[in-house]
Amino acid sequence: MGEVFQKTDAVVIGAGPCGLFQVFELGLLGINSVLIDSLPHIGGQCSELYPDKPLYDMPGILVCTGQELADNIYLQIKPFNPTIKLGEEVTMIEKNKEGYKITTNKDSCFLTKTLFIAGGVGSFQPKKMGLGKTEDFENNWLHYKIKEKQKFFGKKLVIFGGGDSALDWAIDFASSSDFQNSGGSVTLVHRSATFRGAEHSVDKMKELANSNQLQLIEFGQLKSFNCERDSLNSIVISTQDKEISIDADQLLVFFGLSAKLGPIANWGLDITKKSINVNPETCQTNQKGIFAIGDIAKYPGKKKLILSGCHEAAMAAFAAKAIIEPGKKVHVQYTTTSKKLQERLGVLKK
Ligand SMILES: Cc1cc2nc3c(=O)[nH]c(=O)nc-3n(C[C@H](O)[C@H](O)[C@H](O)COP(=O)(O)OP(=O)(O)OC[C@H]3O[C@@H](n4cnc5c(N)ncnc54)[C@H](O)[C@@H]3O)c2cc1C
Repeated sequence: MGEVFQKTDAVVIGAGPCGLFQVFELGLLGINSVLIDSLPHIGGQCSELYPDKPLYDMPGILVCTGQELADNIYLQIKPFNPTIKLGEEVTMIEKNKEGYKITTNKDSCFLTKTLFIAGGVGSFQPKKMGLGKTEDFENNWLHYKIKEKQKFFGKKLVIFGGGDSALDWAIDFASSSDFQNSGGSVTLVHRSATFRGAEHSVDKMKELANSNQLQLIEFGQLKSFNCERDSLNSIVISTQDKEISIDADQLLVFFGLSAKLGPIANWGLDITKKSINVNPETCQTNQKGIFAIGDIAKYPGKKKLILSGCHEAAMAAFAAKAIIEPGKKVHVQYTTTSKKLQERLGVLKK
């Protein structure tokens, strides 16, 4: 039996902040879209990697967390009523004379005139602790991300890593009076003495270590752990010259992400170092009708910021409109004054 392809004007791959905003920009131009993400939730890196962390560089928003940003863009796209498929990875793209046939690993099939790849770093996976079969302990006492930091209050935390995430969380917990008052403690373990994180974070972490608000172990690696049923009791860290046993309740591991482009690498796109090369005027890739925006898109001067990805979404939407409705003039309109845009947004007062 042949697959049934649902026809649409636009498919957006990736429901990170830029993919979500792509749906918004398309909606403003009167284009309905289908949004697909392999994660079971919207928000991409914002919800997966830093849901509780504050962002300060969104225009007009003094501060919001990663999750709040994702949730707010989601509210913004609601008037456009996109079809949203979560927990589905786009595995195949085939060109035909009407556009592109898109298939997911859950057998959803779409035939679209335009395609927007907002795949970020691809299907990202945290790099795991290399110590045997530790999967059974994940989200119990072994964590690769933090969703609710209050759950760690009162615990003996050991944080592994030398990049921004490890430093940020070590500083966050160690300098929180609520965490200290709850009886919690923080040990930061890094396999070298050179940290990859921002200089000011390294300075702050060392200041906290000097005032004994956190314990720092350099050249350290997890050698073994001692757990009983579901509870961790202690771990052994090996350093260059000795082994150190530490009482520990929870391990937080931030070794970075292994960026795997996944299926995107096989779609005949012009890719350099896991990024898709695009024309910066339109964000179109080397294939007509396929656009790439957000972290995955590359052009001279590219900055991997949410702000840049949102601008790219606007550029791509205008270029796509010309493909979907060839020959039709598309003018830039303001949401403040355009009745048509306000109607599409569902905010027009009669
Ligand atoms: C700790 C941290 C703090 C940050 N702070 C800031 C900040 O303050 N300001 C700022 O501007 N930026 C910040 N960033 C960067 C920002 O998060 C990224 O620029 C942004 O998330 C990129 O958005 P995106 O939509 O392009 O991709 P992503 O957020 O990476 O989302 C891509 C989505 O595509 C999905 N996907 C990939 N391949 C497929 C496929 N084949 N099928 C289906 N789905 C697929 C993935 O599952 C993912 O959900 C920060 C990043 C980190 C890690």
